[in-house]
Amino acid sequence: MEILKDSFGRKFPYFRLSITDVCNFKCGYCLPNGYQVDKSDHRTFLKIDEIERLARGLSELGVCKIRLTGGEPTIRKDFFDIVKLIKEKPGIKKIVITTNGYRLNKIAHQIKDSGLDGINISIDSLDREKFKKITDHDRLPEILEGIKILQDLNFKNIKINAVLLKGVNDSEEEFNQWANFIKNNEIDFRYIELMQTGDNLDYFKKYHISAKKFIDYLNQNKWIIQTLGRDAGPSKNYLNPEFKGKFGVIAPYSKDFCKSCNRLRITARGDLRLCLFGNTGINIRHLIQKDDQIEEFKDLILKQLNFKKESHYLELGDTGLTKNLSTTGG
Ligand code: SAM
Ligand code: SF4
Repeated sequence: MEILKDSFGRKFPYFRLSITDVCNFKCGYCLPNGYQVDKSDHRTFLKIDEIERLARGLSELGVCKIRLTGGEPTIRKDFFDIVKLIKEKPGIKKIVITTNGYRLNKIAHQIKDSGLDGINISIDSLDREKFKKITDHDRLPEILEGIKILQDLNFKNIKINAVLLKGVNDSEEEFNQWANFIKNNEIDFRYIELMQTGDNLDYFKKYHISAKKFIDYLNQNKWIIQTLGRDAGPSKNYLNPEFKGKFGVIAPYSKDFCKSCNRLRITARGDLRLCLFGNTGINIRHLIQKDDQIEEFKDLILKQLNFKKESHYLELGDTGLTKNLSTTGG
């Protein structure tokens, strides 16, 4: 079987697939004015039969993990059908999602029954008012209820992500709130450092703070960086024997961040993105129209990988095509 590898020796067993750009939340760093139809792009979002061929091709390329993201992936009416068909592909050992969790309390049972292997839920603060301010939605209690239902159903692999925002959720009090939350909860909580995108420069200037602030907190509070058996990927995880959950940090501006890159992306309209940022990547949709195109599709992905660059060059302010992360799935 082919293994996807780039010219810097990095391997790519993991794809993030956005299935819609649409989102109902208005996170200040992502879609502050809510989802707006892109009038310059008339292409529809990938249809289920296209996703099926895509998953088949990726599975044959040695991809073993697919994350469904968006926009908000659970908005799609055929969301669980998509999960099911990807799960049926023999090579895909893990299918996971990233969601804002807006109806988690209603779909928790379906999530468990669907066989999803993991869920990342975005919660920027445990303070209801702050959560509302950041997302424009007062839905924190429902999301937390959804998490509780999942845990009662013995659903494993729940992660929570928050974007670290200066003066909003970067205080010791906030960090302690999360520490209390994971003390007896087998949940990994990670802060993601705010990234600059094409649309959010003013927001970025106002709210960006280095993840170092949280790392200092972890060091002061006896959290120990996990070196052995660390999940391949960009999150640095920290353990503390007194806590059931783990802390983690995703710091895209840190030195060497791109060295551990193990993922490629496909947007909701079928553009391959070799990096979350940058201008590399082309449309692959024309090669997932018929079953007999699979070899051509695989060939194209293999060839494109040669164009993957060593770094995202984000520190130079080069956000490339990425207007906001709802189009590339974060
Ligand atoms: N709507 C889903 C959600 O919010 O989880 C999935 C898509 S969202 C684009 C994926 C992740 O990207 C979320 O955890 C979100 O917080 C994060 N994100 C969005 N914009 C970001 C930015 N500018 N910098 C850092 N993380 C960002
Ligand atoms: Fe929607 Fe996720 Fe973007 Fe928030 S981060 S606006 S929930 S896509």
